[in-house]
Amino acid sequence: MSKQFSTTEKEYGFTTRAIHAGQEACPSTGSLITPIYQTSTFVLDELGKNKGYQYARSHNPTRTALEECLASLEGARYGLAAASGLAAVSIVLDLLKAGDHVVVGEDVYGGVYRLFERVLRKFNINFTYIDASNLEAVENAITPETKLVWIESPTNPLLKLADIRAIANICQRRRIRLCVDNTFATPYFQRPIELGADIVVHSTTKYLSGHSDIIGGAVICNDEELYSELKFFQNASGAVPGPFDCFLALRGVKTLALRLREHERNATAIAKYLENHSQVEKVYYPGLPSHPQFDLAKTQMAGFGGVVAFVVKGGLEAAKTVVNSTSLFQLAESLGGVKSLICHPATMTHAPIPKEVREPLGIVDGLIRLSIGIEEGKDLLQDLESVLALTQQPITAQ
Ligand SMILES: *Cc1c(COP(=O)(O)O)cnc(C)c1O
Repeated sequence: MSKQFSTTEKEYGFTTRAIHAGQEACPSTGSLITPIYQTSTFVLDELGKNKGYQYARSHNPTRTALEECLASLEGARYGLAAASGLAAVSIVLDLLKAGDHVVVGEDVYGGVYRLFERVLRKFNINFTYIDASNLEAVENAITPETKLVWIESPTNPLLKLADIRAIANICQRRRIRLCVDNTFATPYFQRPIELGADIVVHSTTKYLSGHSDIIGGAVICNDEELYSELKFFQNASGAVPGPFDCFLALRGVKTLALRLREHERNATAIAKYLENHSQVEKVYYPGLPSHPQFDLAKTQMAGFGGVVAFVVKGGLEAAKTVVNSTSLFQLAESLGGVKSLICHPATMTHAPIPKEVREPLGIVDGLIRLSIGIEEGKDLLQDLESVLALTQQPITAQ
């Protein structure tokens, strides 16, 4: 008989829960690791009697294990896995109806903005975008129709923070739900539900799976009634992940804490190095004392993550030289994997935003975003050092 692990056992540490929660040995075979239940349907014992599984869109044991594990890591009771981060966002927005209003942090993930503006607006759901680091702006944007406040912290690519506890208080007073996209921080560094949020969403594509090898998402909450509603939409819309992707996410999550400590160690060293570099105009990293919300970061987060953004001197030309010349940092969108990535927001992730709009927000032509991997720190520093040296060469002889 395998030992039962209760996901609500808070006395277990984070990594213990990452390895055990929802992942008891298989009662019929003893399989130590949760198997990939590659099946579409489950045989009934008799009419009206099953073993808890009937059809794999509704439930799959590999997915259940992932859902229980992710809920436990967020310090919550319920988890739902989705086919992508955006599918997870969709499940949450399915809670709304025509005429409802959502207050949204202005620098949310581009795909979230597109879903809100190009899909959900068609159904007469309305959105107001505000600077979520400004509590007054959040409060002032709320209308009698507001049903949801949607924020990210830290944001992409400028790593701005929102005070989750303060926003949760605003929402609770007005009986509005708060959803936090916790993709950048991960539950290892930040647990929004413990700070008062109602719902957490993730793109498990990023740090949770951690190896840049799947697309996935998750929705997590504590309230049973809310969970039943969300569970209904997960099944009704049907954008569920396959069992193999759930297996990979579960495998990734087991080393989340180890990886994040390395991501952060490398990111801290790189942020400090860049801050002292003569070719760098500005560095964005919540773990730097120069970050305007460093104090909030220290109280709200247990660590500062693995994404660093910086502005190279010399504008577009210099930025192009940097992103085209690194050897280890790979030029690609996305983040959160063991391999380091580099990207140029102005021409890649934020290209659809007109220059006059993005520049005042800080997304200038010289801005570069790094997703710091877990390679040897000195190799990553060396890579950046050699490409920054290239930007130092005089462009025109006087
Ligand atoms: C990537 C990302 C998403 C979307 O997730 P997909 O898995 O790509 O659908 C949503 N929010 C944030 C913060 C992200 O980084």
